[in-house]
Amino acid sequence: MHSRLYKPTLIWLQGVTCNGNTHSFLNLPYLPQLLERFEVLYHPLLPCTQSLAEIARCKRGCNVLVFEGAFDPEMERAGTTLKQLVGHYAGEAGHIIAAGSCASFGGIFKASAPERNSGLAFSGEHPDGPLRGRVGKVINLSGCPVHPEWLGYALMSIADGRPVAVDDLGRPTALYRHMAHDGCLRNEYFEWKVDVEQFGRKEGCLFYEHGCRGPLTHASCNRTLWNGVSSKMRVGTPCFGCTEPDFPRRNLFETKTNMSIPEEVPVGVSKRAYLTMTGIAKSFKIKRLEERLIDDD
Ligand code: SF4
Ligand code: SF4
Repeated sequence: MHSRLYKPTLIWLQGVTCNGNTHSFLNLPYLPQLLERFEVLYHPLLPCTQSLAEIARCKRGCNVLVFEGAFDPEMERAGTTLKQLVGHYAGEAGHIIAAGSCASFGGIFKASAPERNSGLAFSGEHPDGPLRGRVGKVINLSGCPVHPEWLGYALMSIADGRPVAVDDLGRPTALYRHMAHDGCLRNEYFEWKVDVEQFGRKEGCLFYEHGCRGPLTHASCNRTLWNGVSSKMRVGTPCFGCTEPDFPRRNLFETKTNMSIPEEVPVGVSKRAYLTMTGIAKSFKIKRLEERLIDDD
């Protein structure tokens, strides 16, 4: 455990990005307390002690490097290429965080320019990018954007000197061990195969008809709610699987089927087991689950 007097230096660099992870981070309820635990040398929006021009000179290092956006080696920040910046600061840093799916796996920007863009240590699920030799050292906080609480968890762990265990794709197991399906309020509908009739309705599951990736996606969005209150499925939208290395896929609102059988079934469940359970569940009609929870039409 580090003493509370220890303040790691932190630099937040941006690659090809929409700034979504920075904006998500600003929603962390205990952001002021978190920032007190670090000496922020550079962040594009938050108070910091150095300018981008000073950082771009690469004169000193940092303890923690947070990188947001896809990596494009030739892209410049204040006249210095990302290749030079990441090469310098990642070489110095004891901890490296890839914030969001673009920094983790390439994400949307890799999909549009795969010949240039990658994550810091992966392209999709394959080691790639400037830190491909440091897989396991880079903490991948995938998500589009990253959940602010997940960044809070990783940074507080670093400040406290607590190790962050990660999975094969560099994602902290404490955050990504579960599926986005865990904790969804629609689980009873999933079990009995009752589908949503209309987007936005509280009744029904979004898996079969509407492309929900909850049972296929490692994320804790229904355990640690967004803004402390909600998740996509709670407002009637399918999970798009944004924490997985194959994000983004096409046709996000569609579940691909073959002869009416979903092409992909929940992680860890065999297709045979899924079909057996589905067949049994569908043979029952549960009136309560067919009714509106609030009759407001
Ligand atoms: S809506 Fe999605 S996450 Fe919720 S129960 Fe259905 S499949 Fe699972
Ligand atoms: S619910 Fe799914 S799409 Fe939404 S943030 Fe979580 S993992 Fe991403």
